[in-house]
Amino acid sequence: MKRVFNFSAGPSMLPEQVLAKAAEEMLCYEDSGMSVMEMSHRSPVYEKIIAEAETLLRKVMEIPDNYKVLFLQGGASTQFAAVPLNLMTKNGKADYILSGQFSTKAEQEAQKYGDVKAVASSKDANFTFVPQTDRNSFRADADYVHICFNNTIYGTKFPYIPDTGDIPLVADLSSCILSEPIDVKKFGLIYAGAQKNMSAAGLTVVIVREDLIGNARKDIPTMLDYKIMADNGSMYNTPPCWCIYIAKLVYEWILELGGLKEMKKRNEEKANLLYGYLDSQDYYIAPVKKDSRSMMNVTFVTGNAELDKKFASEASAAGLVNLKGHRSVGGMRASIYNAMPKAGVETLVAFMKEFAKNNPKG
Ligand SMILES: *Cc1c(COP(=O)(O)O)cnc(C)c1O
Repeated sequence: MKRVFNFSAGPSMLPEQVLAKAAEEMLCYEDSGMSVMEMSHRSPVYEKIIAEAETLLRKVMEIPDNYKVLFLQGGASTQFAAVPLNLMTKNGKADYILSGQFSTKAEQEAQKYGDVKAVASSKDANFTFVPQTDRNSFRADADYVHICFNNTIYGTKFPYIPDTGDIPLVADLSSCILSEPIDVKKFGLIYAGAQKNMSAAGLTVVIVREDLIGNARKDIPTMLDYKIMADNGSMYNTPPCWCIYIAKLVYEWILELGGLKEMKKRNEEKANLLYGYLDSQDYYIAPVKKDSRSMMNVTFVTGNAELDKKFASEASAAGLVNLKGHRSVGGMRASIYNAMPKAGVETLVAFMKEFAKNNPKG
């Protein structure tokens, strides 16, 4: 069997232990005589899986009791609309910080539904840093402030949690959820597509404070209404059963290895290894401002598009795959999510050194 080091930004690597467990249970889950994929979502055996998944996620993230956990479909991109439809209903206003492509998409979607203001942006600097804000950056009557906490494409992460006072803070955590402890209380709503750090594609997790539920626009599609999903335990219709099961295995894996504190330690070790090397040489350039560096997505370039292309293709041949940067920024991007072992990053750094030696820039 061949397993490569997969640096894909998403869908991305899953822990081998999780894949092995899923394989072991593939044909017959416990004593059900069937695969989780084949089960009725209304069966007692599946109800136990989804209930356990929620309990475990609450434990891993220390989610307070006054927050609901929703297991939804449609990807993080569907939340770009669901958030304003549910939350932009008091004053019809929302403030967005633009720190990359996904936050910009979220802002554009919200514009369809109300008075949306981009209060800060790093677009002019090609999103190489996260803009600073303070409490005065936001409109006092905004229904919420939206941020994308980790910018998957550019390799940046908020070095701070914006102080929005009483205004609920909404955060897209798709590419950094479960990478380190986070104080859920600081947020009104957190959402994340699962395919980066949590499960297979097809599941979106929403963690929302209870007082923000039940104020949706009257014309909201039923499937996007948090109240309907919360009242029905995420089972108004068929949930993404298999993805929720895989997420449960991932939560178990995190708890077994010591929870999010230990996860953070491991992620810091990996990120420091890569950034440490990048800072020690001048063959590769890391475009992101140091205070805004992401622990999950590390971007770098050689400064020569041909060399970048050669790098990605030779790395791939060496078993280090999906290192090509996002089509909108070029260069390289190493996504080193929870499931990427330290050996993967060590192998990457060794490859980078060899490549630099073998391909002088003249
Ligand atoms: C991948 C990603 C998205 C898009 O997620 P989909 O599930 O494909 O809709 C949105 N935001 C961030 C931060 C992402 O990394």
